[in-house]
Amino acid sequence: MTCLLNGKVKMEEDVAVKYDLDVLVVGGGAAGFGAAICATRHGLKTMLVEQQNCLGGLITLGIVNALGGYPEGVGQELMERLKADKALKGAICDHEKTKFVLEQMVIESGAKIIYGTYIIDAVVQGNVIKGAVAQNKSGRQAILAKMVIDCSGDADVAAYAGAPFQSGSEEWGGYNMATSLDFRVGNVDYNKYLASPHPTIKKIMMDAVEKGELPYLIDGGHGVGGGGYFAVLPNRPKDRSELYLCIAHSRKCRALDAEDLTRQILEQRQQAQWLVKLFQKYMPGFENCWLIETAPMLGVRESRRILGEYVFTGKDLVLARKFPDAIARDTHGFDIHHPIDSSIGYVKHTHLPKPQEPAVCQPDEKGGYEARLKPGEYYEIPYRCLVPLKIDNLLVAGRCISADFEGQAGARLIMTCVTMGQAAGTAAALSLKDGVTPRKLDAGQLRKQLIKQGINLDKKPSLYVCGFSKESPLPEKAKYEIGPSDNLIVKT
Ligand SMILES: Cc1cc2nc3c(=O)[nH]c(=O)nc-3n(C[C@H](O)[C@H](O)[C@H](O)COP(=O)(O)OP(=O)(O)OC[C@H]3O[C@@H](n4cnc5c(N)ncnc54)[C@H](O)[C@@H]3O)c2cc1C
Repeated sequence: MTCLLNGKVKMEEDVAVKYDLDVLVVGGGAAGFGAAICATRHGLKTMLVEQQNCLGGLITLGIVNALGGYPEGVGQELMERLKADKALKGAICDHEKTKFVLEQMVIESGAKIIYGTYIIDAVVQGNVIKGAVAQNKSGRQAILAKMVIDCSGDADVAAYAGAPFQSGSEEWGGYNMATSLDFRVGNVDYNKYLASPHPTIKKIMMDAVEKGELPYLIDGGHGVGGGGYFAVLPNRPKDRSELYLCIAHSRKCRALDAEDLTRQILEQRQQAQWLVKLFQKYMPGFENCWLIETAPMLGVRESRRILGEYVFTGKDLVLARKFPDAIARDTHGFDIHHPIDSSIGYVKHTHLPKPQEPAVCQPDEKGGYEARLKPGEYYEIPYRCLVPLKIDNLLVAGRCISADFEGQAGARLIMTCVTMGQAAGTAAALSLKDGVTPRKLDAGQLRKQLIKQGINLDKKPSLYVCGFSKESPLPEKAKYEIGPSDNLIVKT
């Protein structure tokens, strides 16, 4: 019971221990999925705690159906399972089937899932995390564990435990990256859309603002598709296609402020209504489409980023840096969804004072250089980014790892989060086996284990560069131009 006394609310409560585990994984998104499976495959008693009622986090609840990033290990297993279930075309998944496949894979591994359970505090002794406090329909309870892996996306557990973190962009007023409430529409004649000349999303929005049909320009940038992005879900008839759309956005976001998060959801749900009407009117093939749903979870790209033993930076990304303790790699450039300026939309470069190989550099307006990741290059993410400062026996995986604003904007793709989770689950197991904290774990041992599990850290990833193949490889001295999405296009 909670008392109100002299204007203050006082909570004093004994919390019963409900579970005593080897590993507690908090958050069932891409990272939590990888972490729970891998910890359990090492024979550890593992529980995956999720506040919602399915796995996948942003993939499923956020309707982010494009499984980007470099799939390896458990990520590759997931892709194969989805393909076998006709739930994947290219990188686009059927998110409803994905919920089921994720669950089946976790259950098969032997991990216990518990839904509807919100972690509200950390149990800490000195600098060691001992577990977490959970709230669900059964009431308040403590979950003790020898190792805790924070895959909450927002680094909730790390913050409760007192581990240091950063959030938002110093360059852009401390705001977090723009958020997007994805939504689905049905009954689109995609054949007609492909066969007809069609305006960009940006053009539709700009014309609508001019005509007074849209109160403001939601995205005036040059994102994929111009001002937004949509993709067709697999295994639906082409003349009655279902699409997911990432075109409703909020700026000046505070991703750790409940009132502001609510403002963003309200704003974007309204935008979805406007945009569907505009699509029905101006996009060929969309005349008879309907809005199926807005995402049950707001698309927060960036919130807390822990401060770990290493901070992965935007510079590491463009310089395609490799690390002795690398546990994951990716080929993705930046995807900074502008925190404040809707006329810019996306930013896919950082700045360097002078040109530096292998980044592709070109002079900027301030006497420095805009730098982009060279197509065909890849960067690595070090294990140290998963190890928070100050608190022992805690690992962090997914979009809240230790990275600066720009580094996080590249290293947060879905498959990369799964691999980070896989590394965290394996690191928890090796730490327990060797009787050391994750901070002291021999990263060489960890890498050996990950290689055994299909994360081929000892081999160059097989990279795909649009328009090039083994038979006609990317020329060594290729020329590049900046494409419409601020990314690089190879020009030969
Ligand atoms: C709009 C948008 C578009 C994107 N587009 C792409 C794309 O096209 N391709 C791509 O590869 N990536 C894309 N990304 C990035 C990618 O989706 C995410 O970075 C990635 O899915 C994050 O995975 P995660 O497991 O770290 O976190 P999340 O998916 O956020 O999962 C965290 C989980 O933890 C749970 N949780 C949180 N707090 C608690 C708590 N206290 N107690 C219990 N449970 C908790 C949440 O419910 C959630 O299920 C996009 C992101 C957004 C927002």
